[in-house]
Amino acid sequence: MSQEDIESMMKEKRTFDPPKEHSDKAYITSMEQYEEIYKRSMEDPDGFWAERSEELIHWFKKWDSVSDYDLHKPEVKWYVGGKTNIAYNCLDRHLENGRRNKAAIIWQGEPEEDVRVYTYQMLHTEVCRFANVLKSMGVKRGDRVSIYLPMVPELAVAMLACTRIGAVHSIVFAGFSAVSLQNRIQDCEAKVLVTADAVLRAGRTIPLKPNADEAMGKCPSVEKCVVVKRAGNEISMQDGRDVWWHEIMEDESISDECPYEEMDAEDTAFILYTSGSTGKPKGVVHTTGGYLTYVAHTTQWVFDVHDDDVYWCTADVGWITGHSYIVYGPLALGATSLMFEGVPSYPSPARFWKVVEKFKVNIFYTAPTVVRALMREGVEWTRKHDLSSLRILGSVGEPINPEAWMWYFKYIGNEKLPICDTWWQTETGGILISALPYATPLKPGSATKPMPGVDAAVVRADGTNANPNEGGHLVIKKPWPGILRGVYGDPERYKSTYFERFPGMYESGDGARVDDEGYFWIMGRLDDVINVSGHRMGTAEIESALVSHESVAEAAVVGMPHQVKGETIYAYVTLKSGVEETDDLRKELRAWVRNEIGAIATPEVLQFADGLPKTRSGKIMRRVLRKIAASKYDDFGDTSTLADPGVISDLIEGKKSLL
Ligand code: ATP
Ligand code: MG
Repeated sequence: MSQEDIESMMKEKRTFDPPKEHSDKAYITSMEQYEEIYKRSMEDPDGFWAERSEELIHWFKKWDSVSDYDLHKPEVKWYVGGKTNIAYNCLDRHLENGRRNKAAIIWQGEPEEDVRVYTYQMLHTEVCRFANVLKSMGVKRGDRVSIYLPMVPELAVAMLACTRIGAVHSIVFAGFSAVSLQNRIQDCEAKVLVTADAVLRAGRTIPLKPNADEAMGKCPSVEKCVVVKRAGNEISMQDGRDVWWHEIMEDESISDECPYEEMDAEDTAFILYTSGSTGKPKGVVHTTGGYLTYVAHTTQWVFDVHDDDVYWCTADVGWITGHSYIVYGPLALGATSLMFEGVPSYPSPARFWKVVEKFKVNIFYTAPTVVRALMREGVEWTRKHDLSSLRILGSVGEPINPEAWMWYFKYIGNEKLPICDTWWQTETGGILISALPYATPLKPGSATKPMPGVDAAVVRADGTNANPNEGGHLVIKKPWPGILRGVYGDPERYKSTYFERFPGMYESGDGARVDDEGYFWIMGRLDDVINVSGHRMGTAEIESALVSHESVAEAAVVGMPHQVKGETIYAYVTLKSGVEETDDLRKELRAWVRNEIGAIATPEVLQFADGLPKTRSGKIMRRVLRKIAASKYDDFGDTSTLADPGVISDLIEGKKSLL
């Protein structure tokens, strides 16, 4: 085995068959059917993608060719010459097809009593009005609009208003600082900023407008700022620049009708920055026809959404998951999408389940970080509410450790519901690897198989295919319609990050292995791979072993430089509520990993930590942990996307007291 090979030691052997209940009306109901569709999609990709788009999307003008690409350049185009509009597909056509009075968005605010429901008709009117507002501010096709809003319905309205008139939105998560906002506005030179007075979070009011003011002070491109009144806190409004959303939307000159632009399939729809887990965030560019087709395709097959379902994705719209699976995917299908402003832990760890019960949610899509946090609080919270409406569970954002998977399966899914562990990235636009809920037998911790149309593979450093169970680089060998079309303003970074190392393929940057049955197991970022005495190991498996111990809530492992072995393993461990941090437990956990995986994976150092450094989107930032393990406390790189920078000093303290 070469130095480059990545070892794999996962011992997970459990499998669970897909449920029979509800499968009669499912889109894809067996592995045979999946395999047949998959085979077809690989043999005739253009035929497959033409069919899917015709089925799911309304085109004003049909494309001249389905795809045109050269990944060496790189250059990718889908549905070349076709004309469509995202907002038309998400709204207008549903006014004609019987869904006019159906709930498009059910909004549950942070305070329990704040609920708003938008039918497709109502949402259409709001979107047209706001599109007219933008036009009145001089926003034209191709202009950029930055959106810095909490999880309020105006966020979806603003996005759809942009796509209606062909403006490019760039959403910045409302948890980001003034400087992060400023950088993102400057990068895309936005003409208008949409923001709010404050964010309501866990019972507190966190002012937002002051951040916007600070950022706009350094962003001369911004001519107008629209402010949503969420909390009613005192803010300053700059004359001539700032207007209230509710005032301008009620202005008599603003019409309920706004014609949609006929957009070219390859016109830019939006720019969105990645989470910054591995370095400086990238401004990912997505276009119109391919992105829309891809999110509709995956929402339909992964979540098996039907007309009477209530579908809930708990992500923030500030992340790609919210773009694709709260707004564009569900609305393109004419589904009912629940949008939630609150957090899982407030006012109690039962909040999510209360929402599920209240709206009889059928499809529930969340992140492993949430599952682990709720697991830490204990199962009693899950028992306070009736979860029997649930039909499908989803996970995204990080590898879901088998232990967390089992908890989700047992206590939320009542050992009956399929869990779709969806692997994808900001860059991919939509889900690339996932179970299909009524077809795929599940293995806890595996994202299972590629979506039809996705040519996923694991390759060695030299680009040749890895053997079954051999860890390597997760790549995609053919473009799919939702693939990014660029890194905004930086063609060189676009090429070097994704297309240079393996010519003719898309490089994800993640490590994975494929087992004997063709199941994909994501092993974590390749940047985070640990090399102990020439054995290269992914972080996911060692962390999963730690999390499978009854005392452990969460774990992150990194490599620590070692003179002889090259690297040794350094583990950060967060214990469950009420468990005491003792030396005995530390010994026990090291022995546990040795026993679960093998001596090679035993952590050399194990540090207990109350919290781990996470990005605002909930991912563990291992590069920071690597620095701390190496006692390099001076330069942590770009930590602007970190949720709680205070965690770093706590970890440094903890590290020092270990020695
Ligand atoms: P940056 O690219 O700036 O470092 P990021 O990669 O965290 O940030 P995102 O696009 O939000 O930004 O995250 C995509 C990454 O999240 C994937 O590359 C993968 O590492 C991880 N991921 C997402 N879903 C899964 C999943 N189901 N299983 C394992 N890993 C996942
Ligand atoms: Mg990434």
